Amino acid sequence: MASVAENLARVRERIAVAAGRAGRDVGGVRLVAVSKTHPASAVREALAAGQREFGESRVQEALPKIAEAGDGPEWHFIGHLQTNKVRKAVGRFALFHGVDNEGLAAALNRVAGEFGMVARVLLEVNVSGEGTKFGFAPEGVEGVLEGLLQMPFLRVEGLMAMAPYSEDPESARPVFAGLRELRDRLAGATGAALPELSMGMSGDFEQGIAEGATIVRVGAAVFGERARGGGE
Ligand SMILES: *Cc1c(COP(=O)(O)O)cnc(C)c1O
Repeated sequence: MASVAENLARVRERIAVAAGRAGRDVGGVRLVAVSKTHPASAVREALAAGQREFGESRVQEALPKIAEAGDGPEWHFIGHLQTNKVRKAVGRFALFHGVDNEGLAAALNRVAGEFGMVARVLLEVNVSGEGTKFGFAPEGVEGVLEGLLQMPFLRVEGLMAMAPYSEDPESARPVFAGLRELRDRLAGATGAALPELSMGMSGDFEQGIAEGATIVRVGAAVFGERARGGGE
């Protein structure tokens, strides 16, 4: 089995090739290594290989790992945060990718305000309308965004999407293109910059980059396959 360092080198190379093919600067694509279900020792191995940003999708799994991994990593929350976990999560994660309801956004704003911080978030959008029950409907997100932009301790930095599972990575392209077009439209309509597009996982990050991803969330291709059912 390849080491984490070897896997990382391969993923970084693929990111560079995909960026080059899209005529993009590779510096415009950040790799979040998704360490869910993997131990802190795997995180430390990746850190030693120069990886700094890590993604977790469950608060109760992430907090001990964050403590154990120590200084160095920047943590991203990529899952669906339950509102009752917000108080434990604010301050621990640099960016919340999967914000998919207004109640969660309001809770993040409220707790961040109490803590004297700003919660940085991406709104998850269900672009394809299939494959997942999560995410705002594309038609509804402009109205939601208008409200969130009024929240003083919340900063919406962009959008996130997952493509429905498919054997063919190219089938993700229209989903990712749709997310980029939606971002452009929302930025035009609201004046918010929305620079970040979090789209692409192990199976489709090259397609994400081709369509403008600024962040790809890659787990299995970095840390190896997970046991089935873990971490969602
Ligand atoms: C698990 C997960 C990933 C990483 O998936 P891989 O297929 O292992 O790369 C990315 N994004 C989210 C939201 C996830 O839950």
